[in-house]
Amino acid sequence: MKMPTTWDGWASRVSRYVKDGKELLGLPRFPVRVDEIALHYSRSVFPDTPISHIEGRDFNGKFEGALVPREDGDWAIFYDRGHTSRGRINFTLAHEFGHYLAHRHLSGEPFFCSRKQMWEWDSGYAKMEAEANNFAAFLLMPPDDFRNQTQDFRKPVLSDFEPLRDRYEVSLTAAVLNWLKSTRSRAMVVVSRDGFIDWSWGSQPLLSSGVFFKPRKVTTPVPEESLAALGPGGGASEATHRPGVWSDDEPVIESVVFSEYHEMVISLLVYPAARGSRVGDFDET
Ligand SMILES: [Zn+2]
Repeated sequence: MKMPTTWDGWASRVSRYVKDGKELLGLPRFPVRVDEIALHYSRSVFPDTPISHIEGRDFNGKFEGALVPREDGDWAIFYDRGHTSRGRINFTLAHEFGHYLAHRHLSGEPFFCSRKQMWEWDSGYAKMEAEANNFAAFLLMPPDDFRNQTQDFRKPVLSDFEPLRDRYEVSLTAAVLNWLKSTRSRAMVVVSRDGFIDWSWGSQPLLSSGVFFKPRKVTTPVPEESLAALGPGGGASEATHRPGVWSDDEPVIESVVFSEYHEMVISLLVYPAARGSRVGDFDET
């Protein structure tokens, strides 16, 4: 059989393999657990150079994961065992599996992937890292199923993504980013730390309407009245802010989750359907 040459070719190939295999065994399609799949899939497709080890390592937060060639021609995937989040580990394993399928022959070098590389999905992002993330998102949250699960999302809050986090065994952030990639809503995720924006990622309709935060070389504090600034003691997990808080001229719905990853705050911002709408006008146009 002809081998795919691109990350998306591999993603749909492996995704179909998982779907067919689970159907045959009478098992539910989700969650896709990469530790169960990468070993035997790589052995069946590349019997001379399979992934033969998946192990936790003490990366102490320096790296999320790594793909490393071994002396016998096999490959090993390592993940940072300092994490307790299964979803985060599962996504990391899928990311490294993506490097193995789509990139290992391009580099010849081991891949060591830091959180910074994996999670700052901005424009300066290295191509192979973005492809490995896209592969992981496709494999764990296949577009056909993800579309069905999110078709009623108009102005979602973060708690709406909790069932998806559990269904697909990914982090909340990964589920939200996957929705932002394809939604027609004007929405953005903002990750902040110590009151400052660490990184943000907006949907295409939001970017097209001219809304974005400056890249990280400029230090941007979260707005004083935002839930992100009020902290977990603020009490609320959702609020509709008047113009002047997150946006000068638009109301914004903010929902927050504190400390999924220790010190970080995740805010999901949903803007009105069209720029310049009146307060509370969040309906689809
Ligand atoms: Zn990587």
